[in-house]
Amino acid sequence: MDFELNKEQKDIQKAAREFAQGELKDIARDCDLNETFPPELIRKAGELGFLGAFIPEQYGGAGLGFLEHAIILEEFWKVDPGLGQQLCSTTFGSEEFILFGTEEQKQKYLPPLASGEAMMGFAITEPDAGSDTSSASTSAQEIEHGYIMNGSKTMIGNGTVGRYLVVFALSDPDNESRAQRHSIFVVETDTPGYEATRLHGKMGLRASDTASIFFSGLKLPKEALIGTRGKGFYQLMQFFDRSRAYVAAHGVGLAQGAMDLAIKHVKGRVQFGRKIASFQATQFKIAEMATRIELARTLTHKACSLLDKGKSDSKVTSMAKMNAARTAVEVVDEALQLHGGYGYFNDQDVERFYRAAKVLELYEGAKEIEKIIIGRHVLGRY
Ligand SMILES: Cc1cc2nc3c(=O)[nH]c(=O)nc-3n(C[C@H](O)[C@H](O)[C@H](O)COP(=O)(O)OP(=O)(O)OC[C@H]3O[C@@H](n4cnc5c(N)ncnc54)[C@H](O)[C@@H]3O)c2cc1C
Repeated sequence: MDFELNKEQKDIQKAAREFAQGELKDIARDCDLNETFPPELIRKAGELGFLGAFIPEQYGGAGLGFLEHAIILEEFWKVDPGLGQQLCSTTFGSEEFILFGTEEQKQKYLPPLASGEAMMGFAITEPDAGSDTSSASTSAQEIEHGYIMNGSKTMIGNGTVGRYLVVFALSDPDNESRAQRHSIFVVETDTPGYEATRLHGKMGLRASDTASIFFSGLKLPKEALIGTRGKGFYQLMQFFDRSRAYVAAHGVGLAQGAMDLAIKHVKGRVQFGRKIASFQATQFKIAEMATRIELARTLTHKACSLLDKGKSDSKVTSMAKMNAARTAVEVVDEALQLHGGYGYFNDQDVERFYRAAKVLELYEGAKEIEKIIIGRHVLGRY
């Protein structure tokens, strides 16, 4: 057991930190206010190998692991959760190609993602199917030379800017098992019958693209199927076992960034003739935050390391994600508290971090869903 990052991982961390400081910091507030991100940022990140670090080298990726991906995302989220989210989301769902795709799909869809030339997303959630993914009703009905897709999805990352999405759809509605009714398809967004509307008014992560999507008689070739027909639910669960591990890193980054902002503030602010940092109450708050962050990071790295060793563990991954999300919510709450009233205004970065945190307990599985998974593993059969 080794709790130290190796030299290469430390170098990656340093490079990601420098990129975040140089490219994200100064534009973050405006991107949040204007609900936008500069497309050239994605290109730059791609050129430096920061997008989907787990994409194998033969498909244009950095050929690293989920641990390295998590290290990079922590650095991005530390500086700005909104742009960090956008930089993560561009390859969101590409795991489906890597795990289950054909050689043709891998060659066609992975290289443009790694270089930042294209963005993608994973469309799972529907207006009437959120946590209960297997009730998704967007249909992919088989026709002579492929499938025809109808239905709608909501809250989908990169719906309006993605070149393609992977879509979880009902292909076998009559199968007795609810877990064998769905399949996963790649949908190119310039296909007739695809429509997306950007959703405005998100509480946080406002720089990132989130959309509602409509499929009306959208025709898909047979080759659009990823993996095995009817096994989409299992393929989706394997995706979550990976994505939740690096979404945990989002929480670690947000919490670390919020604590860093709080430390800077308390070292400068004087009340009662003393720096706020000199109150023991402040020191205790910082001690609690630092300890929680260290624990969250350790569990996140454990989940990612297991994945990289081919020992995917849904329990550990769910623990890491649930814990990091709670850590982020609680740490940013105290970080804002230490800013006093100033933290309530949007010229202070901590305000943006505070608004961003809650989503971590909602997406990639609401915290209750993670508790269900952990509970099942720990309790076993009864
Ligand atoms: C900013 C943002 C980005 C997103 N990006 C994407 C994306 O790219 N792709 C995508 O497919 N989706 C995306 N989502 C959707 C997200 O995954 C869903 O919001 C999430 O899965 C929860 O579904 P829901 O919102 O329908 O809540 P519901 O399923 O309606 O649940 C509401 C609440 O009920 C409780 N609950 C539900 N089921 C149970 C249960 N079995 N036991 C106990 N409590 C339960 C939980 O507290 C839960 O929070 C995004 C959401 C947001 C906010």
